[in-house]
Amino acid sequence: MQLPVSNVPQAIPARAEPGLGESSVARIGNTPLLRLERMTSDFPHVQLLGKAEWYNPGGSVKDRAASNIVSEGRRSGKFRPEQILLDATSGNTGIAYAMLGAAAHFPVTLCMPENVSIERKRILFAYGADIVYTPAADGSDGAIRAARELSGREPGKYFYADQYSNDANWRAHYDGTAEEIWRQTEGRITHFVAMLGTSGTFMGTARRLKELNGSIRCISLEPDAPFHGIEGAKHMASAMVPRIYDPSLADENLGITTEKAYAHAIRAARDEGLLIGISSGGALAGALEVASRLAKNREAVVVAILPDSGDKYLSERFWTESETRTDHQNSRRSASCEW
Ligand code: PMP
Repeated sequence: MQLPVSNVPQAIPARAEPGLGESSVARIGNTPLLRLERMTSDFPHVQLLGKAEWYNPGGSVKDRAASNIVSEGRRSGKFRPEQILLDATSGNTGIAYAMLGAAAHFPVTLCMPENVSIERKRILFAYGADIVYTPAADGSDGAIRAARELSGREPGKYFYADQYSNDANWRAHYDGTAEEIWRQTEGRITHFVAMLGTSGTFMGTARRLKELNGSIRCISLEPDAPFHGIEGAKHMASAMVPRIYDPSLADENLGITTEKAYAHAIRAARDEGLLIGISSGGALAGALEVASRLAKNREAVVVAILPDSGDKYLSERFWTESETRTDHQNSRRSASCEW
């Protein structure tokens, strides 16, 4: 559902003086870098830090890319005032576009696989975006094909943002995420890990970090199989490869199983008090694999991108079906038995 374009207010009347407070869109970026101490108890010389991207106002890392794509589109004149923003998304970029569209008063149409979580669908509906569902079996590639077809049919009507090919995607991380991590770690970061979707987060952040210090090891992560449960992540070998993706930037690329991603999301919730999403669980699994391979006593500062929180995945069965109990939880249980 969406307001007809003619009913969309084009500008908010100017106030006599600037209002108090700040706009939610101005809060994109500058997310906290959280310490995960319990999960690294086996590696006392490793500091594991998670970039908590759910602190962005739209709830995910994709606020950064979406807002840069919109501003760059407006700046360059490619996104004209009368146009509808169109893109393919597996959810989070769509939420970011929908939030920005509602805040800045432009209409948004999104193509996405019909099997994305119910929470994502409801959020998009709440922001008033138009959604074109594509078959679940076609995955994120089906959504890309649908967006291309729509924009091809009526090119003037849409600004096809094309996050998979748009340089403003990775640049948001080159200018933002990487600089923040550098500042927040006081330049002490030794390893960077991030899961690949469009690859924008990894590309932009790794590119800039390597310029700041060429010895930082950058490890990309992806699902280990074509059919997986890590929403937002792409298995590159079997998918349409994003134009912005350059595999040569990574020092290493690790495959992560869906089960490991689930298990680490549960561990983060129960051992660290962090309700993270599935790809964040995958990022922590990758970060711990990197930590486990380091020479004993080697000091390391490992930064993992945690793209979103667990609240959009609470309807997933793994939270309740899993047998996963952490050591910490077991010790708490036995402690309470003794009382
Ligand atoms: N995790 C989640 C939950 C995502 O939504 C995305 C975006 N598709 C990613 C990871 C990957 O981010 P990027 O597109 O920047 O590679």
